[in-house]
Amino acid sequence: MNRVVVVTGTPGAGKSTVIAGALKELKTRGTEYSLINYGDVMLKLMRARFKGTDRDEMRKVPTGPYRKIQREAARRIVHAAEKNPVLVDTHCLVKKPEGYYPGLPRWVLEELNPESIVIIEAPAREVLGRRSRDIGRCRDRDALAEVEEHQQLNRAIAMAYAALTGATVRIIVNRDGKLSEAVKEMVEVLG
Ligand code: AMP
Ligand code: MG
Repeated sequence: MNRVVVVTGTPGAGKSTVIAGALKELKTRGTEYSLINYGDVMLKLMRARFKGTDRDEMRKVPTGPYRKIQREAARRIVHAAEKNPVLVDTHCLVKKPEGYYPGLPRWVLEELNPESIVIIEAPAREVLGRRSRDIGRCRDRDALAEVEEHQQLNRAIAMAYAALTGATVRIIVNRDGKLSEAVKEMVEVLG
């Protein structure tokens, strides 16, 4: 099994953008990662069971079946991680109607065995601004306090994941207008 790096961040933190920038730069240096989006794998499995599920509605699927599909997704991701080092684009915590749900519960960590966990963060105000501009995705508009709480809890649970696995945790702040700085940091972690 290859090196696995887990990248997380609340929606609107800019996770996918920072990842794309870093992978592009790394490629020019001859380091090639396979990028796997946990949500893509979940959605594919989810649609086979719950017809017409959309990406943002997926988290509202009841926890019982959600957990089963999450576990199956972890197995598929590990299976794909045979050739290159793998970067998994995912979430520390998923906001379900029942409450916060761990993106990496014990059985997922055991499958992925990540070497490092990266958290992409941004100031709550900027996160909300980005979400409202993200017209392709319809997400509930959280209050500033909710985004702050989510980001605090992401940090806390990332440390718990580290305690369980020995993974390192790196926090990268992706401020408006400072994308290149965040990308640079990400390249350092992955390089
Ligand atoms: P994203 O497009 O990265 O914001 O992810 C879309 C959706 O995928 C999330 O809202 C979750 O429902 C699901 N998802 C992503 N990663 C995980 C995970 N590790 N565990 C459970 N669900 C996940
Ligand atoms: Mg994303």
